Amino acid sequence: MRATSLLVLSLFLFSNLSGCFGAFEEGGLFSDSDSEEKFGIPGGLTLACLRSTQFESMVVEVDYSEGYEPDSQTISTLKDRLEQVCDKPGGVSILVTQTDFQHESSWSADDIREKGRETREGVPQDGARLRWHLMFPSGSYEASGVLGVAVDASTAAIFLDDVRDAEGFLSRPSAEDIEEAVTVHEVGHLLGLINLVYESSHQHEDDGHPGHSNNEDSVMYWAIESSDISSFVSNDVPDQFDSDDLDDLAGMASGELATVDQLWG
Ligand SMILES: [Zn+2]
Repeated sequence: MRATSLLVLSLFLFSNLSGCFGAFEEGGLFSDSDSEEKFGIPGGLTLACLRSTQFESMVVEVDYSEGYEPDSQTISTLKDRLEQVCDKPGGVSILVTQTDFQHESSWSADDIREKGRETREGVPQDGARLRWHLMFPSGSYEASGVLGVAVDASTAAIFLDDVRDAEGFLSRPSAEDIEEAVTVHEVGHLLGLINLVYESSHQHEDDGHPGHSNNEDSVMYWAIESSDISSFVSNDVPDQFDSDDLDDLAGMASGELATVDQLWG
């Protein structure tokens, strides 16, 4: 019974997808100035990344306030993780730029959305290229203890002031390791992890922390984006997706798992 309804759901989704792909090809649904852009939820551009059907290449725009440039290790790990799971024959590139967000101290999710849209250099669905936008601003998230946040289908922010404060005793874990993990973690949310736009066949979502892993060896572990990270993770902070995360991503890519709330759906 359950399998049947899942099959019906996926057929419905696929028919929906092909309809909207048509609209995209005709007019350019999101780059056409006559069309209103849909921003969606984290995970809303997951299939856009996992599959090459519509977007054969990808760029991640990384914008930082002066003094908040992410570490080169963070950038190379981010590229590796995306290349590991996303089908992008035209490549994944990371564009790092110093930016004046004209906003300081406290950030709400709406501030991130607003300043993100003002400062990005292109729309997420940019012809055959998918664009995601990571911001590294000065200041902190309005809710204390949050090191990073994903705010829509293509945008996330990482708060390096708080990442630096979260460094553990004797730099274990180090601020650089935490920065790397939080960055991959937020991109994991843009990839729909965990259960944001699908339902996993594995029991790996933490009961007390929706959207997060219960496995402390996964970069999607719930404590990764929390300022208490050094209390939960002693030495090696995970910066990789675990086998359940990868299985979820592969399931969405193949269509084995039904994926909802996609921006072109
Ligand atoms: Zn998270």
